[in-house]
Amino acid sequence: MIESDEVLTVIGAGQAGAELAVQAREGGWPGRILLAGDEPDLPYHRPPLSKAYLAGTATTETLALKARATYEHAGIELVLGRRVVAVDRKARRVEFDGGPSIDYSRLAFATGGRPRRLPTAASGADRAANFHYLRTLADVDRIRARFIDGARLVIIGGGYVGLEVAAVAVKQGLQVVVLEAAERILSRVTAPAVSAFYETVHRAAGVDVRTGMQVETFELNRDRSRVSAVVCRDGERLACDLVVAGIGLVPNTELAADCGLAVDDGILVDAAARTSDPHIVAAGDCTRYHSALYDRSIRLESVPNALEQARCAAATLTGQERRFDGVPWFWSDQYDLKLKMVGLSQGYDQLVLRGSPDAGAFCAFYLKGRRVLAVDTVNRVPDFMVAKRLVGERIEVDPDRLADEAVPLKSLLPA
Ligand SMILES: Cc1cc2nc3c(=O)[nH]c(=O)nc-3n(C[C@H](O)[C@H](O)[C@H](O)COP(=O)(O)OP(=O)(O)OC[C@H]3O[C@@H](n4cnc5c(N)ncnc54)[C@H](O)[C@@H]3O)c2cc1C
Repeated sequence: MIESDEVLTVIGAGQAGAELAVQAREGGWPGRILLAGDEPDLPYHRPPLSKAYLAGTATTETLALKARATYEHAGIELVLGRRVVAVDRKARRVEFDGGPSIDYSRLAFATGGRPRRLPTAASGADRAANFHYLRTLADVDRIRARFIDGARLVIIGGGYVGLEVAAVAVKQGLQVVVLEAAERILSRVTAPAVSAFYETVHRAAGVDVRTGMQVETFELNRDRSRVSAVVCRDGERLACDLVVAGIGLVPNTELAADCGLAVDDGILVDAAARTSDPHIVAAGDCTRYHSALYDRSIRLESVPNALEQARCAAATLTGQERRFDGVPWFWSDQYDLKLKMVGLSQGYDQLVLRGSPDAGAFCAFYLKGRRVLAVDTVNRVPDFMVAKRLVGERIEVDPDRLADEAVPLKSLLPA
């Protein structure tokens, strides 16, 4: 039984934190709920940052996850623009940068992650006005201000965020180079056929995609306020007006580790989103958990994961335990291509294509034996629903039938 004077404090007012706070209230948390985040804005959708918001077709209003009134009606106290700097688990107290501290009965970590930094900080590029990482609204506002027709943009990292930025930028008339250290773009997450497809699309749009390119250092202008060129290991020098680096994410786990929670590249949680302290739950990009689907520990960076885990954490807090083992899924929008992915492809031994990349609409199935580990669907939204079931229910398939467009995909599902 939760008493009405018990306080739930959520650290991190992002996708997971906002959902967790609202769901905890809906699930019957009777006491105070504090949603504390270090960004000044109302909790917002992060995916449009590299898509519609960067393109100027979404506004801060449309980005907000929920209206301010929703938090007010739910009695959720927003503590925005404040950073939590320490958690005292013994005293059950949270300390903010610049005080005062708040006592909690239950605590939730939803601290997300931050951009992985390039190991080139010594060059001073990180402090230059035209060098950017992309994680927050404030980052995109700064980038957008430099999106000027003809400007030379160098994007470091050919992952989803980098490629989405490239797609928006080239459409806006920037001269775009993408530098990818691996031999192909999207190499961590997709098969060579899918990488090749995206590389072709970007090149056709005018993006200069360079793979196998390691950034060595940056040249700065005389007063060191701007990066004037990116210098690669092979000696290539790319003059630039703007640099955006997107080379991955580091989970924000230091606060949890400092207060003694179990952490291993993610705050460790069980299927009920509980951390190693029974009074503390965690959700979203900052967590790592055992996936029953893949029988290994995973850490995901996706909105569906953040939301589902947040709902699970809220249920745990309100005594309605619900197990979490969502099927991982993700999406990416580039040009007029809707890529939706489900599952994790690591360990696949066969790739089956259905449809044709040349036609701009296809599915790539990652099989291990006859089991479908993961599927990428490009402009095939109806197939995605079937793909989700094939992956989530570990349905075994005949690869020949999977490839055969004459066989309806749905017919591969059990009757
Ligand atoms: C540009 C971009 C595009 C993306 N596109 C997609 C997409 O298309 N599809 C998809 O599924 N996912 C996408 N993602 C990933 C998705 O946005 C994340 O998985 C999701 O936001 C995770 O939610 P979260 O609540 O765990 O973390 P976040 O949304 O990062 O929220 C964590 C919050 O906690 C705050 N915080 C951290 N530490 C503290 C502290 N000590 N005190 C106070 N506050 C703190 C952070 O500043 C942040 O506001 C994208 C991400 C980015 C950056």
